Amino acid sequence: MLKFVHAHIPNCIVNSATATYFKARACLNNGFRGHHSNQATVNLKPMKIQILPALTDNYMYLITDETTKESAVVDPVEPDTVLQAVSAEGSRLTKILTTHHHWDHAGGNEQLVKKYPGPLQIIGGDQRIGALNTLVKDGDSFNIGNIKVDCIYTPCHTTGHICYYLSTPNQVPAVFTGDTLFVAGCGRFFEGTPEQMYTALVEKLSRLPDDTRVFCGHEYTVQNLKFAQTVDSNNPQVHRKFEWAVDKRSKGEPTIPSSIGEEKATNPFMRVTLPEIQTQAGCNSPIAAMQTIRKQKDNFTG
Ligand SMILES: [Zn+2]
Repeated sequence: MLKFVHAHIPNCIVNSATATYFKARACLNNGFRGHHSNQATVNLKPMKIQILPALTDNYMYLITDETTKESAVVDPVEPDTVLQAVSAEGSRLTKILTTHHHWDHAGGNEQLVKKYPGPLQIIGGDQRIGALNTLVKDGDSFNIGNIKVDCIYTPCHTTGHICYYLSTPNQVPAVFTGDTLFVAGCGRFFEGTPEQMYTALVEKLSRLPDDTRVFCGHEYTVQNLKFAQTVDSNNPQVHRKFEWAVDKRSKGEPTIPSSIGEEKATNPFMRVTLPEIQTQAGCNSPIAAMQTIRKQKDNFTG
């Protein structure tokens, strides 16, 4: 339905209809107060990452370089929550990192620009991103204080999707993967092909250091691991992580972050080169396995 609406109605009306849809869904699922998960902080000194739950199952992230007190935010769909976090942190927000143009990621950009007193650089890889003023491509880099950010172009879920890899000397790095890589899953192929998702997950993200912390766009972990148990059924790590995730969610805690090493061990979409995954999918190539298990996941009701 949303696809039809997008094709036939001007952008401003679509955005307002989409906002109403996501906010109504969040109210139904979370109640009028509160979010789907508790806020949490991950400290990879000097990089501090605050996990800010939004809508029904989205995550925004406030990243602060504690040395310079400069901050950036990833996918700030709920600007007021972000502004509260920035104020509590006592930092200076300078950048919005947008993973892709979908409303539940980019839909807060304009409001945040209006509400924040200082100038903001709005970064992304797609002209459809609201308030965009800095278009980036694969291999581009910039800084948040002393944190280096490398842009990794990962088209498939959308044609302009960017993942952001953050590093500081001799410390654990982090990657913000939007709707390309989830914990134990990947995004739907709305605007791309299995080949492109293979390039993104296996040829690009899998090659990051194993200890890279993974911060993704949605809390889908339990459902993803339930599915992973059906296509990688002999993998004990998948079963163990499923039990862990169910326990975390029962306490309202995020299952974020994961790590690249953990994803290579438990995420079937990162494991399509392995014979055990291809055999269970009835395929004999990584691309065919990528296509087959994504189709199975699209129809998986758990
Ligand atoms: Zn999306």
